[in-house]
Amino acid sequence: MGTIDWANLSFGYLKTDFNVRSYFKDGKWSTPTESSSETIELHMAATCLHYGQEAFEGLKAFRGKDGKIRIFRMRENSLRMQSSCRGIMMQELPNEVFEESVLKAVKLNEKFVPPYESGAALYIRPLLIGISPQVGVKPSSEYLFVVFVTPVGPYFKEGFKPTPLVIFRSFDRAAPLGTGTYKIGGNYAASLTAGHKAHEMGYSAVLYLDPKEKKYIDEGGPANFFAIKNNTYITPESTSILPSITNNSLMQLAEDLGMKVERRPIPEDELGSFEEAGICGTAAVISPVERIDDLEENKSYSFVKNGQAGPVSTLLYNKLRAIQYGDEPDTHNWVTILE
Ligand SMILES: *Cc1c(COP(=O)(O)O)cnc(C)c1O
Repeated sequence: MGTIDWANLSFGYLKTDFNVRSYFKDGKWSTPTESSSETIELHMAATCLHYGQEAFEGLKAFRGKDGKIRIFRMRENSLRMQSSCRGIMMQELPNEVFEESVLKAVKLNEKFVPPYESGAALYIRPLLIGISPQVGVKPSSEYLFVVFVTPVGPYFKEGFKPTPLVIFRSFDRAAPLGTGTYKIGGNYAASLTAGHKAHEMGYSAVLYLDPKEKKYIDEGGPANFFAIKNNTYITPESTSILPSITNNSLMQLAEDLGMKVERRPIPEDELGSFEEAGICGTAAVISPVERIDDLEENKSYSFVKNGQAGPVSTLLYNKLRAIQYGDEPDTHNWVTILE
């Protein structure tokens, strides 16, 4: 284990020792059990392979200065996976099974939780799939829940660096009343083409507009959008965005700091009036937005002076990281300390 270069890990897959699995069969979930295999044997007619019955989560465990391992907002991730299950007719996973599996997966791979000083973390990936064979379009009767973990590096190796986003009017990620509010693989398949095009053009992500009117800001690829103006934290309200737990946490922290918080439709026209903008999610906490280009409309909005993130984004970022690593008190009970 002396061989992992913690500070230079990327956001990729690195093999760990164990994953944890539970099956839903005959009306009940099996006790979460460890496995050292990286593969899953599946029936070729499994519903996850044909009809997209797949949901996932993403959360992190952090090692503190005190050596303790903290898992951030595990219950929220469990509740969101239950919502995804209702969204695509999969068997809902009980919180107890979710939480027991996550705790077990982290515990069994404790040596892969990066040291405090590295700024890295252990990424936890729960996933749920329909596994029974169907050829007709029907939900599966059997399910597999897996939790694996992988250490991931500090997202901002060169510091907390602002990045550019692009608006494409020719792509949507989700339909107005579709599955955009669920964390499912299908939404990601639908976003790969646009994401690839954005990367090729030098942007870090696509900023999606609302798919109905193409007038309001939805979210930035796999991350929610927020902006700061007049001591107010503003984030979109929409029927096609994923409820980010990071965004929810930042809203609370903004309120704690005495800021106003608004969740409402944000017309693209308003972008020009924002002092700061960012996208947020578990991977990076906050990626400050340098500028947003709307190529088809020939518009560009800039949020950064001297290449630096704004003061409010920086403050929120540091505050949330401090809670995650145990440097500041966990006043909202967001953290589960591994026993
Ligand atoms: C996971 C995800 C996010 C971020 O959610 P967090 O809970 O903050 O990690 C945002 N948008 C989409 C589409 C996502 O899948």
